[in-house]
Amino acid sequence: MAVTTGTILGVNGNMVSVQVSGNVALNEVGYILLEDQRLKSEVIRITGDMVEMQVFEMTRGIGIGDRVEFSGELLAVELGPGLLSQIYDGLQNPLPELASQCGFFLQRGIYLNALDRTTKWEFTPAVSIGDVVSSADTLGTVPEGIFSHRIMVPFNFKGRFTVVSLASKGDYTVDTKIAELKDENGSIHEVTMMFEWPVKRAISNYEERLRPDEQMVTKVRIIDTFLPVALGGTYCIPGPFGAGKTVLQQVTSRNAEVDIVIVAACGERAGEVVETLKEFPELIDPRTGRTLMERTVIICNTSSMPVAAREASVYTAVTIAEYYRQMGLNILLLADSTSRWAQAMREMSGRLEEIPGEEAFPAYLESVIASFYERAGLVRLKDGSKGSVTIGGTVSPAGGNFEEPVTQATLKVVGAFHGLSRDRANARKYPSIHPLDSWSKYGGLIDPQLTQYARDVLFRGNEIDQMMKVVGEEGTGLDDYTVYQKSEFLDRVYLQQDSFDPVDASVGVERQRHVFNLIFDILAAQYNFASQREAREFFNKLRQNFLDYNGSEWKSDEFERLENEIKQMVAEKKNGIDPGAKKLMAVNA
Ligand code: ADP
Ligand code: MG
Repeated sequence: MAVTTGTILGVNGNMVSVQVSGNVALNEVGYILLEDQRLKSEVIRITGDMVEMQVFEMTRGIGIGDRVEFSGELLAVELGPGLLSQIYDGLQNPLPELASQCGFFLQRGIYLNALDRTTKWEFTPAVSIGDVVSSADTLGTVPEGIFSHRIMVPFNFKGRFTVVSLASKGDYTVDTKIAELKDENGSIHEVTMMFEWPVKRAISNYEERLRPDEQMVTKVRIIDTFLPVALGGTYCIPGPFGAGKTVLQQVTSRNAEVDIVIVAACGERAGEVVETLKEFPELIDPRTGRTLMERTVIICNTSSMPVAAREASVYTAVTIAEYYRQMGLNILLLADSTSRWAQAMREMSGRLEEIPGEEAFPAYLESVIASFYERAGLVRLKDGSKGSVTIGGTVSPAGGNFEEPVTQATLKVVGAFHGLSRDRANARKYPSIHPLDSWSKYGGLIDPQLTQYARDVLFRGNEIDQMMKVVGEEGTGLDDYTVYQKSEFLDRVYLQQDSFDPVDASVGVERQRHVFNLIFDILAAQYNFASQREAREFFNKLRQNFLDYNGSEWKSDEFERLENEIKQMVAEKKNGIDPGAKKLMAVNA
């Protein structure tokens, strides 16, 4: 097939206008040919024989008249064993290899294989010669870290195929032929352990999408108890700069009960990304005791890399996530920050001179954000097993203003909103998720009526706090003052969680349920305090005991002892139960 070529007629930032000599497709990859470099670019608009392309590299030195060669292929990633534990840039170049080839300053125009061609993987066939298969069926498996990686019929194979040859059990590289499949017309197709897939097309080789009804446990109390996320669901973490978005995502990536975590570090400051890269490989997976990297993929673009590559990075990340979902695994994709991605869109849209929407973001911002989050989901695969992709994205709105377009567009499509609060971060109340402004549409591990009761205490406590600022403690009744103390207590010992304490950092489901019940009893109790001072002293002491309790190993002697102490303290001062709470307890008993 003749290669389509073109000539550059204009350069505008990292966008070039190209006159083409043949057919090109939207999202097709082309290379700008410089003397000694080929710069990867993607077609983003076609008007007659003129196309606009975004260049994934610095555009220095590109001039009018330069040639472009089109690839006939859409922007795609390589899928196969060996993705796990990799650190890629947005175009799936392995960054460590790139760095070792180029030195500290990454050189443009160098594209490396995403999957190493020398590593051998131990293939075990799962079908036999003569079997009939179709796309996404498993031909065999290879062990990859702790997983059994399915070697599948490439997802773009249409129709039914007969297996006419198959590699026997043994060690092969990803580009070795492992099977020949005959289609219905008798043509033979060779299959290796890897194939490519266009990043902007969702992988949908599953039987059906299911309602995400199972919780994705993060072991962060405020999330799991009050603002749950479902496996296959979506959530967003908007927050001003420095509020704790990145730390929260790191904590989640370490502790969430999922198989694989994909981190798309997108456009944040280079220093921050370097930190992630340094820190991650050293983290130990609490589940396996091995390095966390074994079940992690990092896609990384810093703010100093060209904007177009940022855009690619979120798609690269979600495509890899969907690929592993086809193996019946649960994948968590964390994108930090989607604002940087949206800014890249805004920049390109400006260059294209499109009619701008709000704050100069493109008018299609909402639909692009929606179609990204739609790639999350819980699915039933053809073999009956289930897999999920959960997406959590941070948003970093300028000045922390959640009314801006990216936050608003994201809120329309996600299932949970974990809004970080500047005030809480300033007060070092971590994780700084705002307990009252945030919400979730998913079911969690506690009956929602009980959590609502606790939220009401927070809500009222907050109101009383505001009032006390005006009238002072003296002007506040003892009942109100007690509610305020209860809400402070709940905040301090349950909503706040110490990410650096070995025990408190991650709290499992069983413990959360157990501790929440104890907290509920404390919130629901009526106390015979004689004065505000007595109430304050009681809750101060209780809080201290509770923090020690939070730091003790689950079900250890220390844990039991502190729990008994807490219960006894409460029993001594308790003289009744709030009737509203009593009803809820009866229903839940
Ligand atoms: P963002 O990504 O929102 O800009 P970071 O996640 O980088 O903010 O957090 C900024 C700083 O706040 C961190 O370097 C750390 O000092 C502090 N911080 C954030 N979250 C926590 C936490 N859970 N526990 C303790 N300190 C935190
Ligand atoms: Mg950050």
